[in-house]
Amino acid sequence: MALKKITLIITNLLISFIVLSQEVTTTKIDSLDTWLSHAGTLVYENKLYEALELTFKAITYSHKLENNYYLSYSYFTMALAQQQIMDYNNAEEQLLKAVKYSELTEDKTFLPYIYHNLAVIYYNDKKDYEKALLYHKMAYELKYKKNEISPDLFTPLNNIVWTLFDLNKYKEAIPYLHRLDSTNLLIEDDNSSAKASYYIVKGQYYTHTGETDQALSYFNKSLEILNKTTDWPKGKSFLYQYRSLLYEKIKDYPNAILDLKKMRTHEHLTFEAAQLRINEIAKIRFAVDQYERELEVARREKTLLLDIAENNKTIIYTTCTAIILLMGVLFFYYQGYRSKKRSSEVLKVKNEELSRAKSKTDQLGRIKSQFISTISHELRTPLYGVVGIASILLEKGNYSKSDKKLLNSLEFSANYLLNLVNNILKVSKMDSDKREFINTPTDINDLVGKTVKSLEHQAKDKGNELFFEPDDQIPYKLEVAPLQIAEILINLIGNAIKFTSKGKIWVRLKLVSKDLNTIKIRFEVEDTGIGIPDDQKENIFEEFSQVGSIYEYKQGTGLGLSIVKSILAPMNSKIQLESQQNVGSKFFFELDLNITEETPIDTTFTLIKHKANKNENSKILVAEDNKINQIVTKKLLQSIGYECIIAENGQEALEIAQKEDIQMILMDIHMPILDGVIATKKIREFDKSTPIIALTASELSEVADECLNVGMNDMINKPLHKSDLLRIIHKNLKLNCA
Ligand code: ADP
Repeated sequence: MALKKITLIITNLLISFIVLSQEVTTTKIDSLDTWLSHAGTLVYENKLYEALELTFKAITYSHKLENNYYLSYSYFTMALAQQQIMDYNNAEEQLLKAVKYSELTEDKTFLPYIYHNLAVIYYNDKKDYEKALLYHKMAYELKYKKNEISPDLFTPLNNIVWTLFDLNKYKEAIPYLHRLDSTNLLIEDDNSSAKASYYIVKGQYYTHTGETDQALSYFNKSLEILNKTTDWPKGKSFLYQYRSLLYEKIKDYPNAILDLKKMRTHEHLTFEAAQLRINEIAKIRFAVDQYERELEVARREKTLLLDIAENNKTIIYTTCTAIILLMGVLFFYYQGYRSKKRSSEVLKVKNEELSRAKSKTDQLGRIKSQFISTISHELRTPLYGVVGIASILLEKGNYSKSDKKLLNSLEFSANYLLNLVNNILKVSKMDSDKREFINTPTDINDLVGKTVKSLEHQAKDKGNELFFEPDDQIPYKLEVAPLQIAEILINLIGNAIKFTSKGKIWVRLKLVSKDLNTIKIRFEVEDTGIGIPDDQKENIFEEFSQVGSIYEYKQGTGLGLSIVKSILAPMNSKIQLESQQNVGSKFFFELDLNITEETPIDTTFTLIKHKANKNENSKILVAEDNKINQIVTKKLLQSIGYECIIAENGQEALEIAQKEDIQMILMDIHMPILDGVIATKKIREFDKSTPIIALTASELSEVADECLNVGMNDMINKPLHKSDLLRIIHKNLKLNCA
């Protein structure tokens, strides 16, 4: 089609002009301009391979520069070359790319030419005249400025009219034809292929109107030009085709057939020419394909590089953010560390102050406890004397009623004072946390039974009946601290006696549970006494607490139950209470104990009657430095039928023991010259059998180890009570006989 070649030439000329008017700023853009205008010329000269080479270069650089104008220009030039080799599909593809980039430019310079070439492809290759018409119109619209006739409009108008005639839309074509005629006047070159094309259009028009002379005249004018130019090889084919139609219309059939033959010959020549160039075309197509592949690879590489760059950017951003965050964290950490350091320094100072204050308080506490302990000890010794003398005096009898009452009061007051002093000593011991229990295998039924027995007399004095209910299921020997158990029971039974008159008191032992090695035992002390009001049930376990003064029987120090509580705590037990006012009270606790012996070993032995039974001939040595205690003890021993020899200190006791035939030694522990412990040790060097009983005002548990280790047999607390003394003498002399 004539349009193609004409367009190519016009396009190249126009493009060269447009390119010159572009602002060229860089060498690369200079090169792009040069390459692309040269490529245009090469296409025109049919040097397509070279033209494509330049276009490839141009596309590559345009992509690098991301310049939409040159991208549009490059793809457009490439499409021109592809159209030349009739590679219409690829040409269409490049043109659509060119449309895309051109639309992104401000003035859309190339767009009308691109539309034109697309229209040519749809017309020639795809035979889609409607689509071709659409693109021709779009190209025209872009060039058309209102009421202005310009040479630029000549080609689009010519193409629109031509296509409309092909579509038989003559009516629609007329206004365009009028405008085409006007623009034709502006085209000066009478021998251009554009003019040849215009004359064919005119010929067609007059063929249609039936003005055959006119039509023939235009066809011939066109042929004249086409005979002179090689610009539009396909032009003659069109000319013969349309002129044959005219001949046909005027029924000049020979000429019509002749024109058709000429058309075919001409087309054949064109085809042959194309055949001759087939190698060249194949080469070019191959080059284009390869280039496009390279372009795709480059595009992918670029995307990849962009991705990498993006990734790097992300990495850099992330790293920066991480560093900033890290620095922030470090900063806060440092601040925190500093403030921590500051506060820890403050804390250190405060701690030091606190520990100074604490050690001062501890020291004061120690001094206080020491003071109380010393005073109590000092009070205790003379009190023993008072208690002892009072009981001796009372035993003598023969007093007037009022004297006896006075003596009773003296004994009661002395006992009361002694009890108070002893309890204060115990509490001060609890304070200094020195309580240690010595567990020994013990027959619990026996221990409790004996404790109950020792209090029988006291209970009777108040008209109370005291019952002991042992449990036969309890194993024979259990690992227990006997002194502490006795102390607890003495306190509880003592209270029961104190707060019950003419009532009943039960002491019970109950097996709660038992497994292979351990046993749980419940201890109960129940009375029918005055009971304890509900609101006082918690308080009574506190130190120095007593139920209000309304109680007529109020006596004691308020320390007994707190001592019980403190003994039970390290044994993982707790004293509990059930009580109803005016009905009675029940105190109980449970202990988990290890079993050491299930049943007593069945031994039969004969008790040899001991001479000690003949009390008259039995001599007991009492080693005691305190004069009053000497008198009291001597009197007590005599009252139960024993002769008493007094030693002033350990040394004297040792000497008497060597000389005299004595049955038992009551040895005070603290004595001048030689104390009781060393004296015993020395006596045991020559006498292993005579029972030696320690006399002590201290807690028995405190001295037990020391005494038993040196060979003493038993211990007894001062002040001595007749019943205790009797029991211990009896027990130990019997042992001696066994
Ligand atoms: P106290 O030396 O005064 O007996 P305790 O600590 O042993 O001190 O007892 C505290 C108080 O609890 C007693 O003063 C008494 O009011 C009350 N109490 C203790 N045991 C009994 C009891 N069996 N019956 C009634 N009241 C009791």
